[in-house]
Amino acid sequence: MNGRSHAILGAAASVLALGIQEIDIIDQPLVYVPALFMGIMGGLFPDIDSAENLFRKSLKLSSAQTRRDVQNATLMRPVTMVVAVSRFIVARILNVINYFLPHRGPTHYGVSVIFVTWLVYWFCSAWGLDRSLWITFGAGYLSHLIGDGVTIRGVRFLAPIYPDFIHLMPPKLRIRVGTQAESVMLALLVGILFWIYLSYVGVATLKV
Ligand SMILES: [Zn+2]
Repeated sequence: MNGRSHAILGAAASVLALGIQEIDIIDQPLVYVPALFMGIMGGLFPDIDSAENLFRKSLKLSSAQTRRDVQNATLMRPVTMVVAVSRFIVARILNVINYFLPHRGPTHYGVSVIFVTWLVYWFCSAWGLDRSLWITFGAGYLSHLIGDGVTIRGVRFLAPIYPDFIHLMPPKLRIRVGTQAESVMLALLVGILFWIYLSYVGVATLKV
């Protein structure tokens, strides 16, 4: 799925995770909003291995663009030059990440959901942050693998133990990324999460 779909799915998974924890936006907005943000980040995180990920696109951090920015920045404007050089360095670091992490590689393994979520849990515990932050991050991360699992390519969910790509849908229902079928599938997945929300949390507590 593309970045926008993963962000929406991550948000939906977070709303469900927050609902199960009985946290709502009216009573605890300072817990709810950051947790929702973390869920969206969890939903986007695995595609850090993609040269076309949403962060890079929205921040215009392509190699060519940042190189042009450095060339265009004049030494007479030191701040512009520092920003351009910093962006160029970040773009290079992302290139290195892409080199070592092929798309839908280790960041898309099921075991990585556990490991990265554990790291976020550890960080939250060390800083005394609310546990909902790591829970929504994990929910968002898991939603990403489900979102990619319904595509034609699938995900290597059980790698490295079982290295083959796994599909969550039969061949005819697998979607191609960026098509209208992706929007339909996204609506279906969000609908399923919403249905689970209503079943577990109840209509009476629905405040979002
Ligand atoms: Zn992905």
